Amino acid sequence: MQEGFFIFIGGIQPRRVTVDPAPRRCPRCGLHTARLQRMDHYLSLFFIPLLRVKTGSEFLACSRCGEQPAASPDPPAEESGEGVCRFCRKSFPAGYLYCPLCGRRL
Ligand SMILES: [Zn+2]
Ligand SMILES: [Zn+2]
Repeated sequence: MQEGFFIFIGGIQPRRVTVDPAPRRCPRCGLHTARLQRMDHYLSLFFIPLLRVKTGSEFLACSRCGEQPAASPDPPAEESGEGVCRFCRKSFPAGYLYCPLCGRRL
């Protein structure tokens, strides 16, 4: 037995996983030095992750600024209360059947 070995050998441990190794733009510093990561929790034994018990939410880990909340994907047009014309690319309040700017059917 190893004396003074205080680190517990089994249990739930957080584990940082890289979701996407491709560099992403950091929302704070604007540089492409952030990577999409996630903090999962694993049931581990003897430091070997055996089973993922919890999938964490994704975040951006910037090498300059640290962890940043991941940019949320753009909400659908219906939920944002705004429509965008696919012809002239102007935005206007939702509910139009025809673009109020170019008059084309949406
Ligand atoms: Zn940054
Ligand atoms: Zn239009």
